[in-house]
Amino acid sequence: MPTSVQEQVKVLVELQKIDGELFRLRKVLAEHPARQKKAEEEFEKKKVRLKAAEDELKSRQVKQKDKELDLQSREEKIKKLQTQLYALKSNKEYQAMELEIKGAKADNSLVEEEILRLFDAVEEARTAVAREKEALAVEEKAHRDTLAVLKKDAETLGAQVSALEEKRKAYTPNLEPKLLTQYEKILKGRDGTAIVPILEQSCGGCHIGLPPQFINEIQMNPDKLMYCEDCGRILYWPS
Ligand SMILES: [Zn+2]
Repeated sequence: MPTSVQEQVKVLVELQKIDGELFRLRKVLAEHPARQKKAEEEFEKKKVRLKAAEDELKSRQVKQKDKELDLQSREEKIKKLQTQLYALKSNKEYQAMELEIKGAKADNSLVEEEILRLFDAVEEARTAVAREKEALAVEEKAHRDTLAVLKKDAETLGAQVSALEEKRKAYTPNLEPKLLTQYEKILKGRDGTAIVPILEQSCGGCHIGLPPQFINEIQMNPDKLMYCEDCGRILYWPS
């Protein structure tokens, strides 16, 4: 194990490269369930048009059926009247009923026309359902492709994370446990960056300007660990 602070810092800087990447990858990976959920929701929304077309078809079929039943009862009524017709005694009554039957038949032909119109409307709705089904099938294919890409991405990310976790094991035994714990604590609290270089007299993490005497102190005491007073990250002098 390297003993001097300078050597420990060198190890930390190397470890930070891995941990920074790990932080980034884990963040992307953590967003995956939400991305998948969003894709599922978007696809659910696309089912709405088909549902509406199917509802319209059903409603038109019900109307058609109702009209057909109506016609059926009207025809039965005419049959009844025609049977009664021969039982009538007077000519006047006969003529009146004959007129009634004629009127009822005229009404029925209107109902028949209405049924034909409803039949066309049902066919139209059926075509619309078929069209929406076809459109949804295209959407479903795209949706499945999206899910497959997301799954593959997640697998790739997972493999990269595992590889980096394995790689970091080469560095951690070279650090004093106390320092490692402290570094990891800062890492967690500071978005995956625990050790940063001093850049242009500023903290490379939060960019706050560092006082000249602070810079002097770091340069004079290379074996003392220095922390940014603002963000708490470990600072080092870039070689
Ligand atoms: Zn800082």
